[in-house]
Amino acid sequence: MAVVEYTLRRQLMIRVHHGSDLVKFLFDTAKNKGLGTASLTAIGALQNARIGYYDQSGHEYKEWNVESPHEIVSCTGNISMKDGEPFVHAHVVLADRDGSTKGGHLFKGTVFAAEVHLWELAGPTLEREYDSVIGLSLWEVADVS
Ligand code: ZN
Repeated sequence: MAVVEYTLRRQLMIRVHHGSDLVKFLFDTAKNKGLGTASLTAIGALQNARIGYYDQSGHEYKEWNVESPHEIVSCTGNISMKDGEPFVHAHVVLADRDGSTKGGHLFKGTVFAAEVHLWELAGPTLEREYDSVIGLSLWEVADVS
């Protein structure tokens, strides 16, 4: 187990502009506000999206486009740092007009309307390092027992 303790520094409630890419918006916000470590949620609706599933044996994402408008039923994630830049990791559950859902890792999503809640955490900056076993850049934190 690897644990890092934080306290809450500040919370930001943000209305995202129509037509923005949600992931790029979160990246830009992290950069502009100097967020090194944060947690996030978002709700609203997307006009389209690109989401994916990580193939654990192949070590690659299977990505697909969601071409129609969907509600953001849930979007959770975090912001940490990778190679000196903010790194946004977000997952979504999206619902269509019938309430059918699909979800996955969020690569891109064009916002129809969205409200974001960011919790900036005070403590050590979480940095991502490549993990060759997993095949992804994960938080570099010391193991504790
Ligand atoms: Zn992911």
